[in-house]
Amino acid sequence: MSYIDPSGFTKEDVLRAISIASREYSRVSGINPTFTNLGGDTVGRTKFGLFGPEMQIDSAYLGVLNDAQKIDLLNTVLHESKHYQDGFWGNLAGELSGGWNKKFGDWQYHVDIYNSSSVLTEKYRNEYLCGKK
Ligand SMILES: [Zn+2]
Repeated sequence: MSYIDPSGFTKEDVLRAISIASREYSRVSGINPTFTNLGGDTVGRTKFGLFGPEMQIDSAYLGVLNDAQKIDLLNTVLHESKHYQDGFWGNLAGELSGGWNKKFGDWQYHVDIYNSSSVLTEKYRNEYLCGKK
């Protein structure tokens, strides 16, 4: 997996999002997500492999981002950070304990992640867009 960063901006945006997320999810501290083409209908993914978890961000985020795209990116990183923090077994246990949410057609655990990442995105959006602490 290679890291493609033609603009020089996105990597900084991703690493700043990781830095913010690490305050909520300590395991993501210092990680370096990879960019990959996730096919458009998904913007982020956390893979649990033999050598540990890997966070992947859709390559649609490559390039210079406007503010709305940066907020989407922050939301995606916060969402994936929760998956990353919980680990493979935590994700599985969360799905099984929360059960299936028929209304959303998804695991309740996953619905909760969408909700919590939205709340956290609002919490950090101004700081993130300003680029300062
Ligand atoms: Zn997810």
